[in-house]
Amino acid sequence: MKTENTTSLGLANRIHAAPESATVRIADLAKKLRRRGEDVVDFSAGRAFEDTPKDICNTASKAMMSGDTHQTMAQGKPEYREAVAKKLKRENGIDADPESEIIATFGCKNGLTLSLLATINPGDEVILEDPGFVSYAPTIQFFGGVPVPVPLRPENNHRWDEEELRAAVTDRTKAILFCSPHNPTGVVHTPENLEIISRVAIEKNLYVISDEIYERVVWGRHRHTCISTLPGMKERSITLMGLTKTASMGGWRVGFAYAPEPVIKAMITLQQHLATCVSSFTQVGAAHAFGEEPGPELTTMWKNWERRCEYMTGELDKLPGVSCAMPEGGFYGWADIRETGKASEPFAEKLLTEHHVAVVPGAAFGKQGEGFLRITCVKSDQELEKGIERMKKAFA
Ligand code: PMP
Repeated sequence: MKTENTTSLGLANRIHAAPESATVRIADLAKKLRRRGEDVVDFSAGRAFEDTPKDICNTASKAMMSGDTHQTMAQGKPEYREAVAKKLKRENGIDADPESEIIATFGCKNGLTLSLLATINPGDEVILEDPGFVSYAPTIQFFGGVPVPVPLRPENNHRWDEEELRAAVTDRTKAILFCSPHNPTGVVHTPENLEIISRVAIEKNLYVISDEIYERVVWGRHRHTCISTLPGMKERSITLMGLTKTASMGGWRVGFAYAPEPVIKAMITLQQHLATCVSSFTQVGAAHAFGEEPGPELTTMWKNWERRCEYMTGELDKLPGVSCAMPEGGFYGWADIRETGKASEPFAEKLLTEHHVAVVPGAAFGKQGEGFLRITCVKSDQELEKGIERMKKAFA
């Protein structure tokens, strides 16, 4: 059937909440160039070039071969939840009950979906970051919620101003959604930064949905703190974590949510109906990845990422009109090109079509992202060098 025939039947209004993003346009354009045989260096996709460590793959494949191929509890395998609880204790200082406070999710996006479905009524407002992860606002809108972006201003080091945050709260506000380490700016919130959010959340009685997908990769003196560990926050925090980024497991679709028992109960009911469960052998691999101290494959990979982030942001910072700091966490360079006077979308498009380097225009992440480019730094050393050579020409 042709697309025109399908669309003439009408699509749900919620689809209009998700206009094609600039990220997709850049990815499509890159694919088109590749099909034409062009050698495109891709710094746009938010993933490392390494594959999942072999010991994690072996554990999952053994489970699969030995017949662990059936549905699990909607909440996830007890073994997986126990491994997650061990990880939370070891790495985050959290005592989580694997029976009542953890649910297995298909990556962080599924964790976000379940969190919103469990807490948001149509018309409820959710405060989120501008710039912020591209899927937050459409997901909130799909469920009838209203996204309320609050600026992360560069002059405030890409952090919220407490008064501006407080002023965004209305009678309809139900939750604050935020991300640390942050995509795209690379900010890692200190306990003092988190207190800004926790003060407003407690004062206004709001949920906090905390996307911590990059929490295992923070650099230098920076440390990750879970907002749920702050006083008065456990009962209102929904913490989302996963292995997509930090263990290069994006194709596995696995993560978890840690939240108060009533919220987890609601999420389990939703998961039962929406998806049944996260795949069985995936949970076995993920339990291995979380259950023990990170092994040498992971720690070596992270060391390499830190080195590549340093190299890439250092080189970007030398380009004329560009300023780019080392991310505090995560693996993106957030390059400030405001001095060049160029708008991010046409510039990213030109960089791709004329110089064959794909980056994400900052405007894709919100109004405040204009004047910036997001560049994934965890590609191979050769790709980084090639990309930088091309960008030198583009900025010359
Ligand atoms: N949150 C953030 C901040 C992300 O950057 C991403 C991936 N780009 C996701 C969530 C999605 O995570 P997952 O693939 O585990 O669903």
